[in-house]
Amino acid sequence: MKATSPPGLVPGLPDAPGAGAPAEDGRRAPAGRGDGPGGPRRFGWLAADEKAGRGHNQVLHPVESRYLRAAIDMALAGQSERTITQWLIREGIATAKGGRWTSTTVRNMITNPAVCGYRALGGAIVLDPDTGEPRRGSWETVATPEEWKRLCARYNGYYKINPADLTADPERARRPRTRPAARAAGKYLLSGILRCGRLNLSGQVCDSPLVGNPVSKRTPHGSYACNSSNCRGLARRMDLVDQHIERLVARALADRCGRLTPDHTPWPGEPDLDALRAAERPPARRIEEAERQREAYLARQALHNLLAGFTEERWDALDLAQKRTAIGEVLRAVVIRPLPPGRATRAPFDPGLLEPVYRTDSLWAAP
Ligand SMILES: [Zn+2]
Repeated sequence: MKATSPPGLVPGLPDAPGAGAPAEDGRRAPAGRGDGPGGPRRFGWLAADEKAGRGHNQVLHPVESRYLRAAIDMALAGQSERTITQWLIREGIATAKGGRWTSTTVRNMITNPAVCGYRALGGAIVLDPDTGEPRRGSWETVATPEEWKRLCARYNGYYKINPADLTADPERARRPRTRPAARAAGKYLLSGILRCGRLNLSGQVCDSPLVGNPVSKRTPHGSYACNSSNCRGLARRMDLVDQHIERLVARALADRCGRLTPDHTPWPGEPDLDALRAAERPPARRIEEAERQREAYLARQALHNLLAGFTEERWDALDLAQKRTAIGEVLRAVVIRPLPPGRATRAPFDPGLLEPVYRTDSLWAAP
């Protein structure tokens, strides 16, 4: 078998017999108490369909679920996330959000307790109060609890949940923060930050992330718009929203970071990492973990030094990724309120309708 071919995977997988008849392998979860997994659509499951009377993530996607199961098989056979990632990309498969696979998305996918019908809440598995056993959801599954536990054990130390006894152990959750790098990616300055503040068709605040639309004939200044099918829609000019939020963030950073001084302290774990590497039989997993910590430390330090002594004038010198990172340090979100009744869409831009939600947990949070 080639190193990259998943075990037991038949050629021409999407057309394999049984496609369209998910969960005929008997791994269908028993009916639960109607507690669905909720949240955005997960890779491997179908989206909600009102006509068919099903919610998100209830019924297996005939094609994706086979890739999900194959990825689990590969991981159980000891293949790396990297191998699985490259295989999914080669197969031309998109993630649930239509994006490209990374080792992290693969790891999150195969260790999600939903693969075996379990649900995690706040880092712990939801247990049935009567039996103390994990509560099984009503959705179709692709793996057994034993398989899921073996998958989690593979990432021992990475996850909050201890797969041996299903308890949440806060010590296990001390992993490096990766937020700065995650924030940096993104096409438009404020994608991922803006939320729709209009009431949706269900009468609740829509809260969908707004999508950026580049400058075009129809939108000469670009726009951020709500694309939710459950919303009547909301859009604002990209250039004006960007300008307003940039000024606000630059001012906040000057306030919070203006008096900070750069920090060039080397990562304190370096001697230990050197010792691990010099060992007769270098412990691969501990070295990998140490390297991850080092990377996170250096990313954090680079961000600190980027913002130390910040002045509003320095904002324009930042590139898009740096600006996006800096914005993510100051703001959790910006809710865009709808125009008040009677106001024309051509009325002058009203920054009062942008409602910033500040972070309280960043290094530079307001006191
Ligand atoms: Zn909306």
